[in-house]
Amino acid sequence: MKNILVVGGAGYIGSYMCKYLSRQGYQPIVLDNLSRGHQQAVKWGPLIKGECRDTDLLRYIFSTYRIAAVMHFAAFCYVGESVENPSAYYFNNVAQTLKLLQEMLRANVLIFLFSSTCAVYGEPVGIPIAETHPQRPINPYGRSKLMVEQILEDFHATYGLKFASLRYFNAAGADPDGQLGEDHRPETHLIPLTLQVALGQREKIQIFGDDCATKDGTCIRDYIHIQDLASAHLLALERLLGGRCREIFNLGTGRGYSVREVIKVAREISGRPIPEEVVQRRPGDPAVLVSSNEKAIAELKWTPRYSDLYSIIETAWQWHKTHPTGYR
Ligand code: UDP
Repeated sequence: MKNILVVGGAGYIGSYMCKYLSRQGYQPIVLDNLSRGHQQAVKWGPLIKGECRDTDLLRYIFSTYRIAAVMHFAAFCYVGESVENPSAYYFNNVAQTLKLLQEMLRANVLIFLFSSTCAVYGEPVGIPIAETHPQRPINPYGRSKLMVEQILEDFHATYGLKFASLRYFNAAGADPDGQLGEDHRPETHLIPLTLQVALGQREKIQIFGDDCATKDGTCIRDYIHIQDLASAHLLALERLLGGRCREIFNLGTGRGYSVREVIKVAREISGRPIPEEVVQRRPGDPAVLVSSNEKAIAELKWTPRYSDLYSIIETAWQWHKTHPTGYR
């Protein structure tokens, strides 16, 4: 059984990845500092608590476990926070990743899967966004992810690192078995916030602007279920294990939903009223972000199966209903 080091494996997407890896016959080994992840979400292999800048710890891990590949999910991921505190973003997302890569090379572990983001594209010049779209991020979060993508290109050219940069659109939904779900503190994402309103934990959902040039004036996003993200990672992993060396894919559905559509479906599924209030647009929020996923479908042979809005919100609703205080 191959060991996969899952950095950030106690987080929302990383923990689900571990479950999926384990089901597919791999052994996940989690490294997580638990600053934003949850110990209770690590169930499919050992949890090593620590930082990925900790050289001694990384050397211990690489010498103790025969690691076939590293999947890296640990990152700060809030645009607003990145503008207020760019130093934390460059340190956590870039410097720590560099340390991890250096120790991988030292241990001769040469397969790396990176959680990138559609934020590397910046304001879209056309929709849908393909992998060839110019990369001009407009905030420190997007820039920190692009910097790592560039480091990966250089490490591939010089040291033979094999890598996948997987650019997620809006990760959403929960484990269809109800074991794992979204528990961010603070929560900033639309779907969990809307469902917290449905549960009576918040008074109303704020809609960030209804004056965009979209069908109902609210922003459009491409929501991708964590199950589909996990299956894409596995396909990319197996291609890298099979000898491919440079894999760059958008992970989205190619279909966008407006904020109002999301709230409407959340009302239908929960059967609750969900009051709303229109407020100012969030600075730096593009009106429309929708992926082209043709490359992932054609080359990875990937099919998103859970990412219709109903499956996303239904699985998320089950999670929030049964875990009203998250993992606590
Ligand atoms: N959004 C909103 N109200 C909220 C949170 C988000 O209207 O309380 C909007 C946001 O402007 C964006 C969409 O919902 O258009 C998805 O936002 P989210 O924060 O979930 O993900 P992002 O697109 O920022 O990664």
